[in-house]
Amino acid sequence: MSVAVRPDLRGNAEVRLLAALMRAKDVDDVNEAAITALLNATNADRAAILRFDEDGVMRFKAWRGLSAEYRDAVTGHTPWRPGTRNAQPIAVADVSCEASLGDLAKVFERENIRALAFIPLELDGGVFGKFMLYYSEPHEVDGEELALAQAIASHVALAMEHKRLEAAGRRLTAIVENSDDSILSKDLNGFIASWNEGATRIFGYTAAEAVGQPVSMLAPPERMEEIRNILDRIRRGERVEPYDTIRRRKDGQTIDVSISVSPIPNAAGEITGASEIARDIGRRKRAEEERSGLLAGERQARKIAELLNRVGPMLTAELDPEKLVQAVTDVATELMGAEFGSFFHNVVNEKGESYMLYTLSGVPREAFSGFPMPRNTGLFGPTFRGEDVVRCEDVTKDPRYGKNAPYYGMPKGHLPVRSYLAASVVSRGEVLGGLFFGHSAPGKFTENHEAIIRGVAAQAAIAMDNARLFEQAQWVQNELKQSNEELRRVNQDLETFAYSASHDLNEPLRTIALSAELLERTSADRLDKDGAKLVSMIRQGIRRMEGLTRDLLAYTAATKHEESGPPGADADQALAGVLENLKGPLEESGAVVTQTALPVVAMHESRLIEVLQNLVSNALKYRGAEAPRVHVSASERDGWCVVSVSDNGIGIEPKFADSIFELFKRLHTRDEYPGSGIGLPICQRIVERYGGRIWLEKSVPGQGSIFCFSVPIARQ
Ligand code: ADP
Repeated sequence: MSVAVRPDLRGNAEVRLLAALMRAKDVDDVNEAAITALLNATNADRAAILRFDEDGVMRFKAWRGLSAEYRDAVTGHTPWRPGTRNAQPIAVADVSCEASLGDLAKVFERENIRALAFIPLELDGGVFGKFMLYYSEPHEVDGEELALAQAIASHVALAMEHKRLEAAGRRLTAIVENSDDSILSKDLNGFIASWNEGATRIFGYTAAEAVGQPVSMLAPPERMEEIRNILDRIRRGERVEPYDTIRRRKDGQTIDVSISVSPIPNAAGEITGASEIARDIGRRKRAEEERSGLLAGERQARKIAELLNRVGPMLTAELDPEKLVQAVTDVATELMGAEFGSFFHNVVNEKGESYMLYTLSGVPREAFSGFPMPRNTGLFGPTFRGEDVVRCEDVTKDPRYGKNAPYYGMPKGHLPVRSYLAASVVSRGEVLGGLFFGHSAPGKFTENHEAIIRGVAAQAAIAMDNARLFEQAQWVQNELKQSNEELRRVNQDLETFAYSASHDLNEPLRTIALSAELLERTSADRLDKDGAKLVSMIRQGIRRMEGLTRDLLAYTAATKHEESGPPGADADQALAGVLENLKGPLEESGAVVTQTALPVVAMHESRLIEVLQNLVSNALKYRGAEAPRVHVSASERDGWCVVSVSDNGIGIEPKFADSIFELFKRLHTRDEYPGSGIGLPICQRIVERYGGRIWLEKSVPGQGSIFCFSVPIARQ
């Protein structure tokens, strides 16, 4: 740095200034010393130091005897631009006479400033600030005063630069010391010259241990060439851009680092050494590895999921158990990359006996046919017990291998197996079987295969369960079909029997009736009282018999004959027909029949008439003391038409509500009420044929009954 030659400060003033500058700890101390020196060395009564800030504005840094108002008013005012070279002091003997300061006249006046001087603060980079001297009286600043001020300025400028460099140096040192990176310098022979805390942390050597040692101590033997190359490049003045390499710690452990090396020139521009920054990238590398591991794991998991997603539906679609176990074996063997695979699975025969079957993939059946079934040995046992997957890199080295008689290992002639993998197929706690895979080379099955086979085994279990349920459902359906068929046949036989019985009975019955009539007509006068009674009993029996066969025929006919056309009957019309049919009994009993409007229902008319006629005639037959009152109505319930027939007759005890629908069930003797106990069963048969139901809705002995039946509403 060159500083213009200035007149010396004289005597004590200079000594005091230099002493103060030497003591100065920072720029503030320097400023303070400068102001004191200025006021001592000149006639000025006030002084200030100003500097350009980063933004290029001149600001007060130290002052004595100036108001804040004044400082504000003149901040930024400067006769020089930053960096001006060879600037000369400017003295103003009387501010009121200086036109260029006219704008500030008022400010000066208020601050009581009459004269002033500007002394530039200048270093190699030109003007960076100024001293100001202020006088309260007009004052001709003479050359000596200015020269003194300039001398102070040059001392102070140097001191300021020194302090600035010191501060910058401290900052740099702090940066270097606090850096997480290792920062070291070395000479051109590769000896370490400086060593920061980061270097201690990364390499384990203290500065005392490292400084003076060759930098090669940080490299593993195989990297010595690299160290030499770096030194060569540095000697040529080249930089070494950051690159990843390996270094060795004090404890011998190798570490991953990223290194950059820069040559250090001296003032003359000659390379004297190099700085080397090493960053520990172990953590970064580990994180990268972890990340790529996670990514690979995630990719693998997705692949497995996709695979299982494809396999699952394929297996569950197969409902034939035999084909299914083969498909499971084939798919799994392929997915495992096994040379062969087998699926040993339990089967239960019709007698309930359990035995084991197996399917194979990758090998012909003969390859296994000579060997016994796998047993509950140390190796196979876990799979047959439904435990977790068993995987052996090399089964011949497994401690469980070769422990069992008679072969102690693979039987002679058995396919060679080194890699072994087995998984159980378990459904709802029941072991359905075991999947076994083999390969003649060791280490063929990995953890991934384990994961896949677990998934396939689970899918296989579901699929086998499905197939089993399907088989069971089919069996149940078959059974049901068979028993239905049986029932139908028995029913038909019964009907045929009832029909032919009632039909064929008519023939002898007619003969008996005719004979009885003939006997009565021809021999009435020859019969005594008992004989006549007997004949009358015969005739009574015949009438009952006739009624019975007629009713039985009606019962069998209730479902026997197919009606023509689709069902659909106007219940109003049907009831009108019934009342017409029952005209005689109605009149004779003095019955009153009322009704609501009745709908069209999905029944054939003749059948509907049959049901209604049975119910209405019962209402008349089982009347009480009063004349019968019968009411027929219809309503809709849950999409069905419910027709009710109520009466005011003798009623029925609740306990008979169901049994009255049984064939031949009667609650009274024939003497009390004639009948055969077939009317209600006929109604039930008819209604049920249309999907409906008939029931005793309500009955109170002595008060009457309500019978209901439901039939589908006819869809128009
Ligand atoms: P039957 O009238 O020929 O005896 P049903 O099968 O029609 O045969 O009736 C079975 C029994 O149900 C009848 O014997 C009678 O005891 C009882 N029953 C049927 N309808 C009524 C009714 N409306 N009131 C009282 N009892 C009835």
